[in-house]
Amino acid sequence: MKDAARKGTALVICAPSGAGKTTLTRRLLSACPQISFSVSYTTRAPRAGERSGRDYFFVSPERFTALVQEGFFAEWAQVHGHYYGTPLRAAADVLEQGGDLLFDVDVQGARQLKERLDGVYLVFVFPPSRVVLEERLRARRADTDAAISLRLSNALPELRQADWFDAWIVNDDQERASEELRAVYRAACLRPGRRPEFLRSLLDEFCKG
Ligand code: 5GP
Repeated sequence: MKDAARKGTALVICAPSGAGKTTLTRRLLSACPQISFSVSYTTRAPRAGERSGRDYFFVSPERFTALVQEGFFAEWAQVHGHYYGTPLRAAADVLEQGGDLLFDVDVQGARQLKERLDGVYLVFVFPPSRVVLEERLRARRADTDAAISLRLSNALPELRQADWFDAWIVNDDQERASEELRAVYRAACLRPGRRPEFLRSLLDEFCKG
């Protein structure tokens, strides 16, 4: 939704791979059509069912490097052996026009977005346990054993960064976690400063009165 009277919210969602973040983000996007998804660029190969321009823009490492050099990205990082990046201009334009955006990035990306964009609100999604995380990674049959091991060993340093996030959600029950994410999004939009014009005109009115 575009609304010049309000400032857009950049809802950044992070989780160790397999914590159920993709499902939660899809559910939020379908329940709340006023927030749209920031489509990242990646050098990893598409998985079955993924579409370029919707899930990611799939590019070669050479193209990715050229985009980095052009300053195209708001943030970029190497995650699980591949490069991922968030396009800056597309995101900044939406936010400046009062639209809300959902960013699905890793913790390195979250830290960079916090510094780079206005209106960032950081959400960390936890798996209920390591055992459940491993089960979920195996059940989705998307990765090789080596890739699963890499994702599991990368989870620990990610979990250690959860302290500086604004909200925590434990994804042990998808319904409840989805409801919590919607609540967090609503609260993020209600932060002070998101409607500067409103406060200014109200203060004017009071001063005149
Ligand atoms: P996957 O390959 O499973 O889609 O994503 C792997 C990890 O890369 C996930 O933690 C995801 O959030 C992260 N990721 C996806 N897009 C971006 C991005 O643009 N920047 C960063 N820093 N991480 C990303």
